[in-house]
Amino acid sequence: MSSLANLIDKAATGGRLSFDEGVRLYREGDLHELGRAAHARRMQLFPGDVVTYVIDTTINYTNVCNVHCTFCAFFRPEKHKEGHTMTHDMVLERVKFAADQGASQIMIQGGVNPEIGLEWFERLFRRVAAEYPDVDIHSLSVSEVVGLSTVEGLPVREVLGRLQAAGMKSLPGAGAEILVERVRKRISARKIKPDAWLGVMREAQLLGMPTTATMMFGSIETEEERIEHMNVLRELQDETGGFTAFIPWYYVPFKTPLRGKEAMGLEYLRVLAISRLYLDNFPHLQASWLTPGMKLGQLALFYGCDDMGGTIIEEQVVHDAGSTNEATRRDLEKTIIGAGFRPVIRDTYWNLRHDVALATAS
Ligand code: SF4
Repeated sequence: MSSLANLIDKAATGGRLSFDEGVRLYREGDLHELGRAAHARRMQLFPGDVVTYVIDTTINYTNVCNVHCTFCAFFRPEKHKEGHTMTHDMVLERVKFAADQGASQIMIQGGVNPEIGLEWFERLFRRVAAEYPDVDIHSLSVSEVVGLSTVEGLPVREVLGRLQAAGMKSLPGAGAEILVERVRKRISARKIKPDAWLGVMREAQLLGMPTTATMMFGSIETEEERIEHMNVLRELQDETGGFTAFIPWYYVPFKTPLRGKEAMGLEYLRVLAISRLYLDNFPHLQASWLTPGMKLGQLALFYGCDDMGGTIIEEQVVHDAGSTNEATRRDLEKTIIGAGFRPVIRDTYWNLRHDVALATAS
């Protein structure tokens, strides 16, 4: 058996870890050694001092959802008096607000509301694309796409194709949680199975949409199940190469039916470092500062992350679960600069936007 030091050295230079090696490193690796290796790997992939971020917003257009995940404090079941859905004008107002602040990307995401059909999104996306051609529609989630496929009786590929034709550029990796059947049965029993989640992502990638992948950790899963999650993503990435980034974030338990404990900061850093080392074929690793906050988000830049995510001007789902973190462009940039890096704005495709002035430059 290889020593831990050998395994860390192998992973730091892009060598592939087996599942058992990944679990072993997760359990036994010294946190700072893992961080050192993850940072070395990140610097090997992206030498220099650039850390990217995107100016974006999340518009949670409906809180009505028929999936009823136990870790979610945002949704309301159908017919609930607090259920609401925005009109197209309301969504457009928020897109305008974000575009006026320089947003290049919007995430229109919500519950799986069976009252909303495919045409509703086609009309909305066409309007957004026509009125804000410089704002990329990085929107919906696998669950919403599957919901549309069910409501319309259409194959996922056709739903995605029509959304793409209406202006949707890319599919975010939301709704992955932990792609292990045992965990999903406990925290989101009505959600699609892991294979189906991967199947929708595959379809989107085959249509040429860039996609991301997330992991919500810290609910009920084991350490092995976290590596299992990364393993199925790594396999799909080997096949398609369609994921741009991995975004692990931890579960916020305060107002959810599932409850539980919030992950500790060191656990977050360990997950980041292992993600960078295990997912040898994912280019970008994003610091999801929304749950751990900006200070830990800054440390994340030394545990494998090369991207600070977005400004997320307006977000409700994680906020409703009890997270109170917010950041302006200036906050994000100062955090990056304070860590010794240079903030550069990017778009959905990870093109660097040197033409967009930094907020700290004004
Ligand atoms: S996490 Fe998403 S799919 Fe699950 S209940 Fe909340 S809104 Fe619905």
